[in-house]
Amino acid sequence: MGYIELNVLNNQSSLAMGIDLGTTNSLAAVWKDGRPVIVHPEGKSGSIPSVIHFPTDGSQLKIGREGRDHAAAAPERTLFSVKRLMGRPEADVQDELARVPFPTSEGEDGVLRVNVDGREFTPQELSALILNRVHDHGCRALNDEKPDRVVITVPAYFDDAQRQATRDAARLAGLDVLRIVNEPTAACLAYGLDQEKSGNVVVYDLGGGTFDVSVLSIADGVFKVLSTAGDTHLGGDDFDNALVGLIIDGLQGDLTEEELKDPGFLTAARLSAERCKHALSTDPQAELHMVLASRGVTFHRTVTRSEFEDLVRPLVERTIDSCRRALSDANLEPGDIDEVVMVGGSTRVPMVQAAVESFFGRIPHTELNPDEVVALGAAVQAHILIGGSRDMLLLDVIPLSLGLETVGGAISKLVMRNSTIPCSVTEGFTTYADNQTGIDFHVVQGEREMVSDCRSLAKFQLKGIPPMPAGMARVAVRFHVDADGLLTVSAREESTGASTRVEVEPMSGLSDEEVERMLLSSVEHAEEDFAVRRAADLVTEIGTMRTATERSLEGVREHLDRETLEDIEAALAASREADTGGTDAERLQAVRDELERATLPLAALLMDDVAKAALSGKRLEDV
Ligand code: AMP
Repeated sequence: MGYIELNVLNNQSSLAMGIDLGTTNSLAAVWKDGRPVIVHPEGKSGSIPSVIHFPTDGSQLKIGREGRDHAAAAPERTLFSVKRLMGRPEADVQDELARVPFPTSEGEDGVLRVNVDGREFTPQELSALILNRVHDHGCRALNDEKPDRVVITVPAYFDDAQRQATRDAARLAGLDVLRIVNEPTAACLAYGLDQEKSGNVVVYDLGGGTFDVSVLSIADGVFKVLSTAGDTHLGGDDFDNALVGLIIDGLQGDLTEEELKDPGFLTAARLSAERCKHALSTDPQAELHMVLASRGVTFHRTVTRSEFEDLVRPLVERTIDSCRRALSDANLEPGDIDEVVMVGGSTRVPMVQAAVESFFGRIPHTELNPDEVVALGAAVQAHILIGGSRDMLLLDVIPLSLGLETVGGAISKLVMRNSTIPCSVTEGFTTYADNQTGIDFHVVQGEREMVSDCRSLAKFQLKGIPPMPAGMARVAVRFHVDADGLLTVSAREESTGASTRVEVEPMSGLSDEEVERMLLSSVEHAEEDFAVRRAADLVTEIGTMRTATERSLEGVREHLDRETLEDIEAALAASREADTGGTDAERLQAVRDELERATLPLAALLMDDVAKAALSGKRLEDV
């Protein structure tokens, strides 16, 4: 039998789209130029409200922002929160149905229907309309390339029926689902955490109307959901309502009870509250301002951040209770968590970040836009699934090392030159002097060994360290460079949770020639740099040894013979001189070695005391 060759047209796009199909907002991202990016037509936001309005005149449906604008005037024809109904029988969603203003019924097939104008729509059909809109919106930014292969995210707790309903929605929208991915997994992918060998991650997702926390483990790039917890009706809307309460209290005398319950009034009050809340995420105080022109009534009040925090504290505490539950279900303690990822617009509230940081004892990831993290991660997954290399994300490297100034003007490099971005490095630092309550950080860039030969990027201070002996404080400093090359340096003292951060653009103002010059100069000065660095490190080491010796001498002085004591005093005196004019590494090495030699009998005496204490059952502190 002969075969006839057919010329098959292959119109498949080389792109695949990631879609975050959210309860309130949805958005799409694709992989472009080596990284995931949100797709949106120029000048427009990528985020599409997951809302559908059915106009009374039967004209074209209004989906997204346009649809949402009709919510207050025509609530029974404006459908929202469809995601909450996906793949669930009527009996399971009674509480959800009580909250929506549109009528529903259950079909003979057991599938819920939403009724508009005598027509019935399944949640799948409605989600398909939203998916279509998000997909179209994204494609308009891609010069009409139509990536029909998609990855769609769903909450980690979605069961098989809910996942299947999401697949069905995509099929109805004419999309080819490569995979349904858990939202927290997508968030981890966006942060590149799949590249960690192993570890435990918490994804804290506080949006407008829902709160989810998930505990995941990573092993060789594969994520496993260990537990989930949360609150299906807790989020930024509740923060807004707390402020709306202030407006209602303030207008008690001016408006009737009826007027204060009017949907139009409440919508306007919520908008004012949300504006004020957003401002309070960056400013210490903000205006809560509302004008009711129809009644000639104006409300105005300044709200301080701490007033707002008092109002929302119980809500934030509820989210931490959920975190506690999720950890306990996963049989883990806060200390077992290696990374915490923040998702959802409400994680911009400083108090939320502080509460999460304090509970898990680590600085959470907030470097990416919390509204976009899930869609970006979906795009990473989509890219991998169509055979793209994840390594492409590693296209960008850091051209010059990034580090911190340490004692003596030397540099501790945290992110080495040629590290691929995005990347994160955490290192522990401590105090140099007794009772030091603050640490000055100096972020520098360059290949040379001493600060004076490198480029200064930023200086900042961590305050609030409790007074304690030198070397006892534990300060974790994290350098994170995102995919755009933006460096965030954060520092956190473990015992008090005191923390601070700074953002820098390391490459801003640096030309390629300057980078080259800095690299060349590090090669040219390599030998001399090495000697200077060695000298600086020796000065620091000598200083630490001297402090320890002086402290140990107190109390045991009388147990040492005169000759030993004089020997130690002489070595100490020489070490004091070393602090000044300390650039001759050979001489400093000799001073250090001499101090070590002279203090050997002191060390032996102390060891002896420790041993005796152990034998006599005395506690060490009592020796
Ligand atoms: P999402 O559902 O993730 O889109 O989150 C939306 C919620 O995040 C809404 O309640 C917003 O008011 C809230 N949000 C967005 N930006 C901020 C901000 N700067 N400060 C506080 N809340 C914010």
